[in-house]
Amino acid sequence: MTSEDRCCTSHIMPTYNRLPITFERGEGAWLLDENNNRYLDAISGIAVCNLGHAHPAIHKAICAQSEKLLHTSNIYKIDAQERLADKLTEKSGMDNVFFCNSGAEANEAAIKLARKFGHAKGVENPAIMVMEKSFHGRTLATLSATGNSKIQQGFAPLVEGFVRVPYNNIGAVEQAIEQNNNIVAILLEPIQGEGGVNIPAADYLNGIRSLCDRHELLMMLDEIQTGIGRTGKFLAFQHNHILPDVCTLAKALGNGVPIGACLARGKAAQLLTAGTHGSTFGGNPLACSAALAVLATLEKEHLVELARQKGQVICAGFVERLQGNKHIVDIRHKGLMIGIELDSPCAELVKSALQKHLLINVTNETTIRLLPPLIIDEQQIRQLVETLSTLINEFTA
Ligand SMILES: *Cc1c(COP(=O)(O)O)cnc(C)c1O
Repeated sequence: MTSEDRCCTSHIMPTYNRLPITFERGEGAWLLDENNNRYLDAISGIAVCNLGHAHPAIHKAICAQSEKLLHTSNIYKIDAQERLADKLTEKSGMDNVFFCNSGAEANEAAIKLARKFGHAKGVENPAIMVMEKSFHGRTLATLSATGNSKIQQGFAPLVEGFVRVPYNNIGAVEQAIEQNNNIVAILLEPIQGEGGVNIPAADYLNGIRSLCDRHELLMMLDEIQTGIGRTGKFLAFQHNHILPDVCTLAKALGNGVPIGACLARGKAAQLLTAGTHGSTFGGNPLACSAALAVLATLEKEHLVELARQKGQVICAGFVERLQGNKHIVDIRHKGLMIGIELDSPCAELVKSALQKHLLINVTNETTIRLLPPLIIDEQQIRQLVETLSTLINEFTA
């Protein structure tokens, strides 16, 4: 049976337009198909496998934990969960953590927390400010928070209580606060991933922090894509020398083992109490031991600093090879979160790259998004830059 036959008779709900390829195993930044053909992975399972595939430290941690225990329950103390929370709060400057299994769930926790915060302040109908072009997940509340009508299409009635403003526009935030006296929190991505790798002004998050302080709002950062070293800091807000009140993580936290986390600080850390929120799997021993190994490996291999350096090398390479190409609108990056924006839709580049054994992604129709694993080496970086710039130059010619 060929893969095409399989796809016609699939019993999988068609929620994804899948590329016609299956990978059997991985080695660092390589993925290998059934015939042992190597593909260079410049997307990391969408910012998940930051340590690359089959990293021995993760493999070891998962094996060791599975020999002892996979799961108990959150009705007991879980040692690995306590240690992971210690490590995450130490590295982030936050106070405590709620563990769950995905990004959407982490944002659900943040949204519930913001509503409790509002009610505790005496706001009867609390609203959360969110951004245009944002992405926060696919559950009902998180798709309602998401700034993309395609994602909301067909799912009305949406969850209410969101006020939307343009991204990277402090004046719009100020105005919305003045016009809506029920706003209790602002939820945003430090860099918009799905929305097109949109990097705001260097002091944008500082501006949001000041407004949240002045108006007693919770600053809630969705670091699900930007977190865990991706941008050249452990968390992207650390570029701004500020602390949010709430911060959500998932994707790379387990390097492929599902885990999500909602971190809170100060008064926000006191709101979700016994009986108000929960999760069967959240923070179970297996997921937490994987995440502990991820954090230890990031430090041991200095991957966060390396992400900053490698991002610079990759972007300098693209700037050099794409200079003079009038169809390039912008090449932007923070660490290894990279966007190359063209002046027309370029989704077909994903397929032509696949033919050249390179895995990339296109977001917001015109932006090539690269999220290579932080362990990508020099030779692979050269291959990525050469292959992709040639493809782009051919595509735009
Ligand atoms: C991927 C992503 C999510 C959703 O995470 P899931 O694990 O797919 O639920 C939320 N926010 C951002 C910024 C993301 O990139």
